[in-house]
Amino acid sequence: MKIQERKLRAAVKRAYQVPFIRRKMQEQGVAPDDIRGLEDLSKLPFTTKEDLLKGGLFDALAVPRSGVVRVHTSSGTTNRPVVTFYTRNDLETWSELLARNLAAIGAKPGDVFLNTAGQGMFTGGLGYIAGAERLGLTVVPMGPASPERQLEVMKIFGVTVFHAIPSFALRIADAAERLGIDVERELSLRLGILGAEPWTEEMRRLIEERLGIKAYNNYGAAELGGPGVAVECIAQQGMHVWEDHFIVEVVDPKTGEQLEPEENGELVITPLWREAMPLLRYRTRDVACILDERKCECGREMAKISWIHGRLDDMIKVRGIGLYPSAIEKVILRHPEVNGEYLVTLEGYDDVKVKVEVKEQVLNTGRAEELAEQLSRELKATTMLKMKVELLPPGTLPRREGKARRVLDLRGVHGGG
Ligand code: ZN
Repeated sequence: MKIQERKLRAAVKRAYQVPFIRRKMQEQGVAPDDIRGLEDLSKLPFTTKEDLLKGGLFDALAVPRSGVVRVHTSSGTTNRPVVTFYTRNDLETWSELLARNLAAIGAKPGDVFLNTAGQGMFTGGLGYIAGAERLGLTVVPMGPASPERQLEVMKIFGVTVFHAIPSFALRIADAAERLGIDVERELSLRLGILGAEPWTEEMRRLIEERLGIKAYNNYGAAELGGPGVAVECIAQQGMHVWEDHFIVEVVDPKTGEQLEPEENGELVITPLWREAMPLLRYRTRDVACILDERKCECGREMAKISWIHGRLDDMIKVRGIGLYPSAIEKVILRHPEVNGEYLVTLEGYDDVKVKVEVKEQVLNTGRAEELAEQLSRELKATTMLKMKVELLPPGTLPRREGKARRVLDLRGVHGGG
């Protein structure tokens, strides 16, 4: 893409203003003028989260501090969140990207948009509100509140589109069920844009079914400016990357070598639009692939990435086998008896227990034992690991504010063996 090459050259020049990036480029013996086209991309050094956390708070800036009109932070699990900066132009581009995200899933003027993400430090709050306003939707900037309260507000304003993390969408479905709300008849919901948390297509189907909506995945990271990197379109077959603003690569996480389409590896993303905080070849730690097929029934020809299979840091190692929690989720959520809540517990000497909430009637009919055995068999077949499955009534597993925790690793916690 011509536009990508032109923007890449400019982005590299901007990034060269950032001392740690300049140092890395010099170490690699590459100057901004060496980068002419996409074929030169692999000459550039990677940047990582460690780079951003190592230096001072403002070390990633490519503009004077007075040029920064907004800061946000990641919701990072590390001690210090990553800070991300925006110039006025950056905010302008970002809101355009998020307006595009909403348009891609089929939202349009006349839709009423509720954002369950807080308008605070995290990017999904103010970001999506700006995008929705830009697209001409009616915005209900609800922010964090109980699922019951969200439902009430959805009803009052006739909300048709909402943004949330997937586990919170499930909690809204739980609350609707508890309150006896007929989601199809009493609510006007039709679209959900979900993400910022690991989830699977199986989880998507379940959320769609329980809330009577179409649900779409979207991808981003605070380091890259927030959400707005990639989004599913109505075809629901991979996420389109906004290639006029980002270059996407997939590399072998060990060697850093670029991989072919359909090969899973670490997503590496170069934002082309960021003035305040340009990054080159940012290693996301997220595992996915670039899809071979560009043609899409929506008409867009932007490259598509797969769903994220997991984060490199979240891989569970059990008896020498490595797996992502998503592999377990995919097996469990294929069954109509479950409600979407589950917890994987690792204990003792690599004992894996999977607790799964099922619908009330399943436990009452004696189908439970059979289902538990079936799940255990299917998990063994998919992951090669023996797992004990325990079925629980709905509402038993702890829900938490913020991102869901699906894995509890207690190995070594109790001391001894
Ligand atoms: Zn498409």
